[in-house]
Parts: sequence; C-alpha cells; structure tokens
Amino acid sequence: MNLKERLENPVFRLIGTVADSIGQPCFVVGGYVRDLFLGRHSTDMDFVTVGSGIKVAELVAEKLGPKTSLAVYSNFGTAQVKNKNMELEFVGARKESYSHDSRNPVVEDGTLDDDQKRRDFTINAMAISLNSDTFGELVDPFDGLSDIDKRLIRTPLDPDVTFSDDPLRMMRAIRFATQLDFDIFPATFEAIARNSGRISIISRERVFDELMKIIKSPVPSKGFLLLERSGLLKIIFPELQALKGIEVVDGKGHKDNFYHTLQVLDNVASKSDNEWLRWAAVFHDIAKPVTKRYDSKLGWTFHNHNFVGMKMIPGIFKRMKFPMNEKMRYVRKLVELHMRPIALVEDEVTDSAVRRLLFDAGDDIDDLMTLCEADITSKNQEKIRRYLDNFALVRNKLVEIEEKDRIRNFQPPVSGNDIMATFGIPPSHAIGEIKEIIKNSILDGKIPNEREAAWSLMLELARERGLEPKTQA
Ligand code: ATP
Ligand code: MG
Repeated sequence: MNLKERLENPVFRLIGTVADSIGQPCFVVGGYVRDLFLGRHSTDMDFVTVGSGIKVAELVAEKLGPKTSLAVYSNFGTAQVKNKNMELEFVGARKESYSHDSRNPVVEDGTLDDDQKRRDFTINAMAISLNSDTFGELVDPFDGLSDIDKRLIRTPLDPDVTFSDDPLRMMRAIRFATQLDFDIFPATFEAIARNSGRISIISRERVFDELMKIIKSPVPSKGFLLLERSGLLKIIFPELQALKGIEVVDGKGHKDNFYHTLQVLDNVASKSDNEWLRWAAVFHDIAKPVTKRYDSKLGWTFHNHNFVGMKMIPGIFKRMKFPMNEKMRYVRKLVELHMRPIALVEDEVTDSAVRRLLFDAGDDIDDLMTLCEADITSKNQEKIRRYLDNFALVRNKLVEIEEKDRIRNFQPPVSGNDIMATFGIPPSHAIGEIKEIIKNSILDGKIPNEREAAWSLMLELARERGLEPKTQA
C-alpha cells in the first residue's frame, strides 16, 4: 500500500531527503500512522531510522530553520525537534530485552523489524517509509491495518511476554480501547488478567497518566469496566473496586454501587468535558462500602457517606499521585455537597435553603447540579423525570436568588475590623458571634445582603452585648 497522498505535510519529504543524504532508512511510525488511518488529527510524530536518530534530528532541525528547537537525549539515543505546530521525536531502530524486575530494557541497535517487534500493539507498530525511492510505502508486519478495521487491540508478539516485560502496556491497552472505542483481542485480554499483578512495578505517576486519558475519553466507564474485569482495578484503586457487589439481608439487597458510579460518570461525561467533574463522579459514593449498615426497619443505609467520602479523598489522591491542589479540593467539595440538592428537592425548595447551597458551593454550583442530575440513575423513567423537573426548579431558583442576593462569592458586608473599629475593642469571641449572626440572617433572608442593613443589625447585636460605639455611628 502506498500512502503518498496522505502524507500532505511537507515535513515528511524534508525528513526523507535528509535521511537520503546520510544514507539512512527513515520512517514515520506508531501513533501517527495509526491515527492517519483512524482520521484522528495529531501533531506529535515519531520517526524511526536505521542508524542514528540524533543525527537525523540535528539535520532536520537545521533545515526547518529558526523558531525550531532541538533537544538531544544522548543516553536514550533520542532527540526531539519542536516548532510552533509540531513535535517530532527521532529514535534509532532498536532491539530490546527485558529483565524481570524492571520495565527498563537492555537496548541495542536493531533493524526496522526489531523495532516494530518491541512496540506494544499491532495498530501501533505500523511504519511508513519516507526515503524518496520508497516514499509512502506502508510497512505493516503484524497486519495492524486489519486490526484497525476490526477495531482490535492486540499485541504483535506473545501477550504474556509483552505485558510481563512492560506492565504499563496493560494500562495502555485499556486506555486505547477506551479512547478509540476498540475491543481488546481475547487472548490479549486474558494475558492482562494473568499478568495484572505485575502492575505494581509501574510508578503511580504513569498509572495516573493513563487514568487521565481514560477519564477524558467519550465513554470513560468502558475503561473502568475493563480495569475491573482484568483484576487491575483492585490493585490500583481498591476503594473503587470495593463498590462492586450487592449484599442481601432479609431478602433485601442494595444497588451495585460500582455500576451505579460508572453510570453517573458516563452521564456527567455526556454533559461536561471537565475531567475533574468526571473524577468527582467516580468518587461521589466512594465511602458507601465503609458506611454501609443494615437496619431491620430502614433497610440499607449509607449514613454520612458524603462526609466520610470527603475525608477519604486526600489520602486516596496522595497515594495515587493525583494532584494535591485546588483540583483535589474541588473534588472533595463536590463529594461533600453531592447530597444537598437532592435533600432540597425532597424537602421544600425554600429561598433560604437555596441561599445556603449557593453559599457553600460558590462558583462550583453549576458543576454540583450537573453531578446531582447525573446521580439520578433509577430504572423508573417517571421517577427520573420527576427528579429532573425538581432540579430544573432548583436551577431557576438559584439564578433568581443569585441575581437578587449575590451569595455565590459571599463577602460579609460587615467585617471583624469594622466591628473592632466601631466599638474600639480588641479581637474577641463577641466579634465572631456577631459576624456569624449577620451571615446567617442574610442566608435566612431576614436581612438583605447589603451593608446598611448589616450595619444596623451589628449595632443592635452589639448593644445587646453591652457594647457602645466609640463615636456616634
Ligand atoms: P498517544 O500519543 O495518543 O498516547 P501513541 O501511540 O502515539 O498514542 P506514545 O506514548 O506517544 O503513544 O508512543 C508512541 C509509540 O511508541 C506508540 O505508538 C508505540 O508504537 C510505542 N510505544 C509507546 N509506549 C510503549 C510501550 N510502553 N511499549 C511498547 N511500545 C510503546
Ligand atoms: Mg504519541
């Protein structure tokens, strides 16, 4: 097969000419070739050459001229050329052999064929020649093309060897299946299940990178289902695994919270590309297994699972090398608050309850509502409709009250300093008390969220506490 017409970017001819000039065969290889067939656009390109990859990279950087950067990694034998719209990675063809306890192989120079054999999946092992006499010719020793047609992830060699050599490939298989909506070839999947224990030699940072790619996929549940079925989930994320299963007492079961969580995740993913909101969906019921109780009158309860879940988040994030920054605090907050909107619609949607929700959620209120709407996964369509109608009501009320009262980014209209200055008193318990009463009066709608009203309430509260203004206010 010749793909000349598909290699429109002039950089391919340029690289071919450079490689010709030093007599080295050179190919575009891996993800770029795969994505070419899948019609996915990518600006990252990997090149393999028989000979020195660094030499080709240096010459290519020179030819591409100013505004091109070159980074050479001599101990890996690779080099990267970057300009404003491309990232080109060059490597010499190599042969790899692995020892048991590390994913860092012993590397020696090899042929193109050796290099293709070390690649993870048939669809990632295709190469297209760039030298002028063979420009555009596809080299596809493992018939990756037909696996693309069949939408299959399959290893080129014995999958047990492939996964045992580099267990990260198990995560990559599941990630590609999720990203591309491919199936994993049965023998390949069985090997993942057999080798799942080897994932422990992979750094948590690498596992996190793959999880991020899974969560950003169009239907992220697919990845988590595969992780569970392969046995990887219980090793990398035991708290999520623990959600799986149904316990029955007195003939009464509860819903399977693993499948429920995945449904919520997909619901959120269909509404939002925000990956941290998607993570909040994954974590929202994380404390259900540890809070689960059976009560002969109430049936199954998961009392306080939102608060317990919130407390679990920093520990899980830390262990799994998730960021310990505002992303973590965002997920923790959504987990904490995820029961609030539902409690609101089950009770009465009063202005003051809406104001309190706005106060607690702040700018994350819309995301919280999206999560809660996604959380309605009943089989009963009528019930779903009723809840969603009620949520629509809450959303309207949120807008109405926010316009009127500006609670989202609440700043107390009277500060502690105001109180101290007015009454000439040092910091004290009374000040905190007065501020708290003013805040609650605003949230309960007893006074408007305005300085004047807050000021007269402050004077009144101070008077009750025997405080007199220093100068007449
Ligand atoms: P994407 O960039 O979308 O993640 P990709 O296939 O380009 O997909 P990269 O990680 O950029 O993935 O790797 C480029 C190529 O290098 C792959 O297509 C594959 O041929 C090879 N490769 C990457 N990681 C491995 C690995 N762990 N084992 C074997 N081959 C790998
Ligand atoms: Mg890539």
